[in-house]
Amino acid sequence: MRNDNSKKDVNTESGPVKKETGFTELPVTSLKGIGDKTAKLFGKLGVETVEELLHYYPRAYDTFREPQPISELLPETMAAVAGMLTKTADVVKYGHLQVTTVTLRDISGFLTLTWFNMPYLRGTLKAGEHFIFRGRIVKKRGRLTMEQPEIYRPEKYASLVHSMQPIYGQTKGLGNKTIAKTVAEALEARNTERDYLPAGLRIKYELAEYNFALEHIHFPKDETELLFSRKRLVFDEFFMFLLSVRLLKDKKEDRQSPCPFKIGGEAAALEEKLPFALTGAQKKVLGEVYADLSGGRVMNRLIQGDVGSGKTIIAVLALLQAAYNGFQGALMVPTEVLARQHFESMNELFTGLSLPVKPILLTGSMTAKEKRLAYEKIAGHEADIIIGTHALIQEKVVYDKLGLVITDEQHRFGVGQREMLGSKGMEPHILVMSATPIPRTLAIIIYGDLDISIIDELPAGRQAIKNCVVGKDYRENAYRFIEREAGAGRQAYVICPMVEASEMLEAENVIDYTKTLREHLPADIRVEYLHGKMKAKEKNAIMELFAANEIQVLVSTTVIEVGINVPNATIMMIENAERFGLAQLHQLRGRVGRGKDQSYCIMVNSSGEEDARKRLEILNKSNDGFFIASEDLKLRGPGDLFGVRQSGDLEFRLADIFTDADILKTVSEEVKELMDRDPLLEHEENRELKRKLDLYLERSYEKLNL
Ligand code: ADP
Ligand code: MG
Repeated sequence: MRNDNSKKDVNTESGPVKKETGFTELPVTSLKGIGDKTAKLFGKLGVETVEELLHYYPRAYDTFREPQPISELLPETMAAVAGMLTKTADVVKYGHLQVTTVTLRDISGFLTLTWFNMPYLRGTLKAGEHFIFRGRIVKKRGRLTMEQPEIYRPEKYASLVHSMQPIYGQTKGLGNKTIAKTVAEALEARNTERDYLPAGLRIKYELAEYNFALEHIHFPKDETELLFSRKRLVFDEFFMFLLSVRLLKDKKEDRQSPCPFKIGGEAAALEEKLPFALTGAQKKVLGEVYADLSGGRVMNRLIQGDVGSGKTIIAVLALLQAAYNGFQGALMVPTEVLARQHFESMNELFTGLSLPVKPILLTGSMTAKEKRLAYEKIAGHEADIIIGTHALIQEKVVYDKLGLVITDEQHRFGVGQREMLGSKGMEPHILVMSATPIPRTLAIIIYGDLDISIIDELPAGRQAIKNCVVGKDYRENAYRFIEREAGAGRQAYVICPMVEASEMLEAENVIDYTKTLREHLPADIRVEYLHGKMKAKEKNAIMELFAANEIQVLVSTTVIEVGINVPNATIMMIENAERFGLAQLHQLRGRVGRGKDQSYCIMVNSSGEEDARKRLEILNKSNDGFFIASEDLKLRGPGDLFGVRQSGDLEFRLADIFTDADILKTVSEEVKELMDRDPLLEHEENRELKRKLDLYLERSYEKLNL
């Protein structure tokens, strides 16, 4: 579904640029060997067109490293070992399983290697022969071994060493090989494009040519080529993003607001009646928001505050002001679970204070009938406050008098979303709330179009969360601890990276973990699970039961990562903590420590890797989001790419605002200069750029119109 009205003049007054429907705009089925079935699987990865496939970058690269001495191997790491077989492979049968075993010797020691159900390897793996094996090191009965390793002859390995193979995000039925092959096919089939970055910029910053970069981000010959390609594409990502922000800013600079608020005496009265006193920081920020709302101009403000700093109440008070002034206010959040929670806690607050304000909920998973009813209430102004996911700004929603839009934890939607509202003839005040700890210098660039307020204080009486980083062998203790806390009336989250067991990844999954946990805990402690693939109804039911302490232990994926507020939960246990980014772990941990009770965060590190341990140590030491972000940066260093996802709400495909901060600053200056010179991008040299930008903006809209 597209919104054609909104697209036309999103960019400049020079009118829409005709889109040439080149090959890359076609669906992936136009590639050889891709039928509807495979196309559907690609769809699951968010890849519909050839263009999207070309920009479906690898998550990581498999590098063929120099073999390691056997004596230096560490458990749970990938390694290559080189040496001689001490004797020809043994094949032993255990029931249905046939296990092939060899022993490899190098100058530092011996290593046993095994394969399952591959008895024919015996013909290859002969005594005295030299091989290189590559695979995962695991500890079995106290000894290190390698299971199912890849097998190479020394000459072959020598030709591969240092080379990099792409590893893509995969989905069931669509493996890495197929994805890589399809990408190669697409690169082959497309016509190279004219580079849209002005040549001057490319030379000045030593940027790779576009077509080169696109090809070699997928298939780099070595690390140097990868870094070179990546730098160019990171530059592009920031460039497009900042251009669109800048266009927006130029458009709305100093706009008189069509909906100025009067901040009445009721506001102060409300503050008195809240169940808690606002912190000094909350008061200061609230003052800034009220000044904007009543100042006569359109508010465009970002509130930054660490997890648990109490951003929600600011939003609620601002929404109430909208209602008192006869306007409607909308609160948009990234997940349905969070929308419902905000809705329910607001209802509770308003009922408690007997306020005559009516909130309603609008989410994508509501039935057609429920939605229609909600639309009617919105259009008829029966609803003062509307809470929901991005369903809130879809075409069918017609507001009576929309005066304020607040987004919680999803400011990347900001750019397109505001244009969308503008295209409906509305110009509400905008408030964006974020827990992402970005240093002020970077925030000013990324949110070039917003004023910034910071809540730099936690509510009084909070006890610092106690942290620990442990190995798998600590689990039994953790379960006993959960049992004790549950016995004292409190609750726990347990996070697993996966929904269900997978052959591709060795990581804990929600479904199996729930079973295990039920076995390890007494029957009166109710354990349930939650994950993103469940139906909205089921998710809501589980969340409600958890909020009411009918469920004591919630095993969940990261769907609960942002915003969720159950102050009675005091334990956050994170399995495979090494698989999450620090910012993400900090967000997850932010789900506890929200009440007066002492809270705990147990991070289970299932990897033997040293840098995983070091990273987790940062969280162990500190509960401060800004500190964590800056330490993370130091540890990773600017050259360290493809580490971990920074956080859910500032997602670029490749770029990382922290590690790529230098590029971000450069791009910011260049965008400014470019727009000062050619504000409508009309100059001949900027023609391709303008075309790309229009496509970029159009895509941001399509995303909104899902
Ligand atoms: P976040 O900034 O992470 O969105 P919330 O707004 O959800 O944080 O607030 C976290 C918890 O702190 C909530 O239970 C909220 O009711 C409570 N809270 C907010 N402000 C205060 C305050 N000034 N004093 C005490 N508790 C507060
Ligand atoms: Mg929040």
